[in-house]
Amino acid sequence: LNRGLESLRDLPCETLDGHRMPLWVNTGLMADVARSLDRGAEGVGLYRTEIPFLLRERFPSEEEQRQIYREQLLAFAPLPVTMRTLDIGGDKALPYFPIEEENPFLGWRGIRVTLDHPEIFLVQVRAMLKASEGLNNLRIMLPMISNVEEVDEALRLARRAYDELVEDGWDISLPPIGVMVEVPAAVSQARQLARRVDFLSVGSNDLTQYLLAVDRNNTRVADLYHAYHPAVLSSLYTVVEAAHAEGKPVGICGELAGDPGAALLLMAMGFDMLSMNDNSLLRVKAVIRSAKIADSQALLEKAMEAETSDQVRTILKAAMVDAG
Ligand code: PEP
Ligand code: MG
Repeated sequence: LNRGLESLRDLPCETLDGHRMPLWVNTGLMADVARSLDRGAEGVGLYRTEIPFLLRERFPSEEEQRQIYREQLLAFAPLPVTMRTLDIGGDKALPYFPIEEENPFLGWRGIRVTLDHPEIFLVQVRAMLKASEGLNNLRIMLPMISNVEEVDEALRLARRAYDELVEDGWDISLPPIGVMVEVPAAVSQARQLARRVDFLSVGSNDLTQYLLAVDRNNTRVADLYHAYHPAVLSSLYTVVEAAHAEGKPVGICGELAGDPGAALLLMAMGFDMLSMNDNSLLRVKAVIRSAKIADSQALLEKAMEAETSDQVRTILKAAMVDAG
C-alpha cells in the first residue's frame, strides 16, 4: 500500500473534478523536514517553536533561535513556513520556566505568557525576521488568542521588531501574520480577528477540548473528546465563512486535518489548506484524488445534519468505504 501511495508524491492534490486542496505539514524538529518534503508537502502550516525550546536547558538566545529558524526556512524555501510564537503552558512546560497552576489549560499559556513577557516575544519575532532575510517564506502565527486586544498588542510588537531591524539595515519584508482559532471566543469573533490579520488557522485539538470542556490529555474523559462532535463541526464551518467574508484565507492545523474522512468535510467547508503530520499526507491526498467536490459537499450537508458524533462517524465511514 505504501509503495502505491509514494507514487502520489508529485501528483497534485486535487479532486477528480479539479478542485485543488493544498496539503501542508506540521513540523517541530529538523528531522521532520526530509520526510515532509519527500511526501510532497506544499508548505508548513504549523512549526511548533516550543519544541526546540523544550530540548534545551535555558531559553535559546536570539542568535541561537535565528539559526534554528533559518534552517527550517531554508529547508522548505520557496515553500511557506508558518512559525507559531512560543506556545508553552497547558501541558507544555519548559524545565527552566516552571509554571505551577491548578488548572493549566485555563491558565497562563500561549500568547498570554509571551505578552506578559514581551522580551520573550520580541526576541523570538526578531529571530524569525532575521532568519527570513532573502527568503521571504516566513509566516507568523499567534497561539491561544481569546480576544482582539491580544492580537492588536502582538501586531504592535511584531511591527516594532520589524521597524527596528529595518532601521538596522536588515533586508526583510513584513511577513503575513495570522491567528490560531482554538478558543470558542475566537470562533465567535472570527470576523473581527480575520479583519486584523492575514490568515486564520484553526487549532482543532484545543478547540475541541475547550468547546466540549474535555481535557485533551485526561484519559478518564477521553471517551468524551469527540473531534466529530456536531458543535465542533459547526464551529469549523463558522470560522471558514467568517474568514472568507473578510477575504482572508483559513487553514486548519489540528489532528482532524490528517483524518482522511474529515479531510473531505473540511475541503467541502472551504478550508484553503489542511496542515497535518507528515505521515498522513499521502493517505489524505489519495482520498481527495479519488473524490469529487460535489460529492464531498453532499457529504458535508449530511454530516451537518447529524446530532451526534457517532452519526458523523458512520456517515464518514460509509463515504470511505464507497471511496475504496
Ligand atoms: C491545536 O490545538 O489544534 C494545535 C494545532 O496546536 P497544539 O496541538 O500544538 O496545541
Ligand atoms: Mg493548540
